[in-house]
Amino acid sequence: MNIVKKLKKSTPWWIKSSVARLKRTGIILMYHRINDSQNDPYYLNVSPKNFDEQMSILKKHGKTIQMQKMGERVSKFNLRSDDIAVTFDDGIRDNFYNAKPVLEKYEIPATFYIPSHSIESQQEAWWDKLARILTSPILPNIFEISIGNMQYRWNIDSSPKEGSVAFNDKLPPMNSLISKKQLLFSTWRMIKPLDFQQQINIVEQILTWSGQSSDAQSAYLPMTLNQLNVMADSKLFEIGAHTVHHPWLSDWPIKHQEEEILVGRQNLEKWLNKEITSFAYPFGNYSDQTPGILKRLRFQNACTTAEGPVKRNMDSFLLPRFMVFNWNGELFEQKLRYWLTLRI
Ligand SMILES: [Zn+2]
Repeated sequence: MNIVKKLKKSTPWWIKSSVARLKRTGIILMYHRINDSQNDPYYLNVSPKNFDEQMSILKKHGKTIQMQKMGERVSKFNLRSDDIAVTFDDGIRDNFYNAKPVLEKYEIPATFYIPSHSIESQQEAWWDKLARILTSPILPNIFEISIGNMQYRWNIDSSPKEGSVAFNDKLPPMNSLISKKQLLFSTWRMIKPLDFQQQINIVEQILTWSGQSSDAQSAYLPMTLNQLNVMADSKLFEIGAHTVHHPWLSDWPIKHQEEEILVGRQNLEKWLNKEITSFAYPFGNYSDQTPGILKRLRFQNACTTAEGPVKRNMDSFLLPRFMVFNWNGELFEQKLRYWLTLRI
């Protein structure tokens, strides 16, 4: 018998079982939209057909739980092997029409994170409106806009061929020739740090520049309050908070972050007559102080958008997720198997 085998054989059972417990991991799946729309430059759509296939795979796997339970198990060092939570960000109406019936069919619990202003306003998110405008086949040749005292000017390459564009930190040099996708990601970057009213104003300016009509129908409207209430009344579903206006939290002082987080939750609790304890950081973004704010406000868990499995010794206010793309059942199963093998 070699030395490793000998050691293995002599390891007491209670050490083996503690090590096995330490290695337990769960996973949190992140969805946004269950939608067939082709206009999806951010790759947030899963088609209803693929979503059905994915959920049938998950049903076979079993062990699906809401985030409330996931957070509780992580904070009590009690994560079960292969626990899985399904989450949806942003409260899009297709979640009600296309996700809810499938989740009910397979009896899969899920958590929906809702930015409260979207329910009140019944308007699509600013980044979806921006995408709708800037993916139009016809745009003027020169893009020109001022934000505060900054002037931005680019020439637009309107040829239909689009290479892959990195979502990076740098804006292209002024007056250079850029693709429509580069224009979308650049304007997204410029608008993201502004306050909510400015965000709306700048997107309106871009709409005027584009020469399109303002009453085009969006594929990504939010759920109505009635629909949200129906979701919240189901035992299968949990509603989580996602601030009021979906800001880039790390750009804002603590006081503003606190207000966005607290009022977002208060609105949901008032409308749904339920305690809200789970949270997801908008855009997955937070500062060093944000998890502390959530703890002070008596939230119990929070999700980021960092990729990775959930481990039992993790901070339950920084839970990572895996984003699910528009994969068919077979591809989804491969991904799931791989994610479930990731250990410490
Ligand atoms: Zn979001």
